[in-house]
Amino acid sequence: MTNTDVDIHAVKAAAYVHIPFCSAVCPYCDFAVVAGADDRIERYIDAIVAEIGLAGPWRVLDAVYFGGGTPSHVSPHFLGLVLGALVALHGIADDAEISLEANPEDFSEHRADALLTAGFNRVSFGAQSFDDTVLARLGRRHRADDIEGSVDNARRAGFGNISLDLIFGTPEESERSWEGSLQRAVDLRPDHVSCYALTVEPGTPLHREVKAGADAPDPDVQADRYELAERLLPLAGLERYEVSNWSRAGQECRYNLVVWAQGEYEAYGNGAHRFLNGVRSHNVRRLDAYVDRVEAGLRPIAGADPIEGWDVEIDRLFVGLRRSAGVGPGPGVESLLQTSGGQMLLREGVIEVAEGRLMVLRPLLTDEVHRQVLDLEPPKGWVESTNTDNL
Ligand code: SF4
Repeated sequence: MTNTDVDIHAVKAAAYVHIPFCSAVCPYCDFAVVAGADDRIERYIDAIVAEIGLAGPWRVLDAVYFGGGTPSHVSPHFLGLVLGALVALHGIADDAEISLEANPEDFSEHRADALLTAGFNRVSFGAQSFDDTVLARLGRRHRADDIEGSVDNARRAGFGNISLDLIFGTPEESERSWEGSLQRAVDLRPDHVSCYALTVEPGTPLHREVKAGADAPDPDVQADRYELAERLLPLAGLERYEVSNWSRAGQECRYNLVVWAQGEYEAYGNGAHRFLNGVRSHNVRRLDAYVDRVEAGLRPIAGADPIEGWDVEIDRLFVGLRRSAGVGPGPGVESLLQTSGGQMLLREGVIEVAEGRLMVLRPLLTDEVHRQVLDLEPPKGWVESTNTDNL
């Protein structure tokens, strides 16, 4: 993917749909999810369709992403109703990426066929690990063999773009086990792989267990595990294009590329976040409160933050520097390179400027670069009209 290909996503239109239902809540999860609430699925789907109508017509969509929760836990018929509402109101481009997150235990042959028929063309499996001990510790309901079965079902149905999500650094995981997970993942010839470090989020059961004395993930071990992924995935033809994401050429997740290029995206469902007309906003998080608001004919928006002036440039660097292709020239890049912190990052090879683009060369230190970015002041003489975007 060329730099122009990366930046062109700034003008694409994407939509996110949140499906909060799961069969059980994993101990590390802090997303807006519910378990044991299948009797509320139909009403929730009606609410999403109604929310799409309340938000009104927008642009023809280039990428649609159903995340969760577990979209594959919900009947393809219901997911198809939501897609139908998006088509009716916005239109979806013929070559759009239409993606859903799926858990391996849900992905039968029959369901794979039905999801493809409903209009999905990309599936992202929450594989997490190919070590059954690690899967059990993560509270997952599938076992390693189920992942292979679900990928087979997806491929047989005709899904041309298959992604696997992996989690590394669970205390029960050994280096050998992580290497085995990476190997079994690439043996399945996925088009895309995401690797995330296990984090202990406040308020989760895992957080309570760690506070009570259970082993916490070790950041140094996690850094080693990340570096192993960095070494092994490219050997299988998967190039890193973002801190946590690797893909075959042309199979990058287009929805995410829009988000990281400061493109606009609509969002529907409880807790969903959008970025439209320079404003980041999010919906109410509690499922019942969301449904009640929509059924009362109200937009379910809980908060909004306009991104204006210098913050547009800070935001451009913040989201754009997660990508391997980095960001194009602009006053923020200029400003960073004038600071002692920016110069130090340059000297130490954490960042580099090549052909006018600023890139992070050591992805494990992206947080450090972000800290420097958040402190930046506009360069001398900067006025808002000189601000640039990614194009
Ligand atoms: S399946 Fe995913 S979304 Fe659902 S509880 Fe587990 S981690 Fe959270």
